[in-house]
Amino acid sequence: MRHINIAIDGPAGAGKSTIAKAIAKKRNLIYVDTGAMYRAMALYFLRKGIASDDVEAIEQEIPKVDVSIHYENGEQIVMLNGENVNALIRTPEVGNMASTVSVHKKVREKLVELQRALAVKTSVVMDGRDIGTMVLPDAKVKIYLTASVDVRAGRRQAELAEKGIVSDFETVRQEILDRDKRDMTRKHSPLCKAEDAVEVDTSDMSMAEAVEAIEAVVAEREQAGAKQSI
Ligand code: C5P
Repeated sequence: MRHINIAIDGPAGAGKSTIAKAIAKKRNLIYVDTGAMYRAMALYFLRKGIASDDVEAIEQEIPKVDVSIHYENGEQIVMLNGENVNALIRTPEVGNMASTVSVHKKVREKLVELQRALAVKTSVVMDGRDIGTMVLPDAKVKIYLTASVDVRAGRRQAELAEKGIVSDFETVRQEILDRDKRDMTRKHSPLCKAEDAVEVDTSDMSMAEAVEAIEAVVAEREQAGAKQSI
């Protein structure tokens, strides 16, 4: 099978993980959720009581943080210093900490290296904020997913409800706006659409429709790539 990497970027709640997982399953590719790696790193700093703006302490601790991933029955398991932290990293607290610690260059460098290594070994569908622009600039397919802030907040609230977490719509919406701002304006690898990415707005799409739309883009890029190599 030909090596193909698919990069999916976009803001929180645009549908990245649902879509990336579906595409990976359909094509038998490995799904890499890079946000989970930033979340694991954030959990480490939260546990240590290190503030997200304490650059000195963060840089001192980085060599002691080992984030790795492996797969069990097709599910990505994130390990933090040997501990499976999957069940601990989906809270709004960890999400916000991930968004504030991910502004630091050294944090990003460590995780980008790990992400690149994963995509060399095998074909991946990788989602995040800087995959098409920084982690895998040569990815064959790049998608930039968006949706209106209200739709994204609604999706995030439903996701939390599924986990038994009751949340207030306005609070979730504001958190998303804050996260967008931080992710899009940070100095290192801000969230933005790669020049050669295809933008897909999922506001008025069901997840099944969005998967279909992305699948069409992947197929079209694959065909174009096959023609080029004839
Ligand atoms: O995607 P998720 O919500 O799990 O990501 C949590 C945070 O991690 C994001 O808000 C973003 O600040 C950071 N992140 C990043 N680069 C990535 C993936 C996530 O900066 N590739």
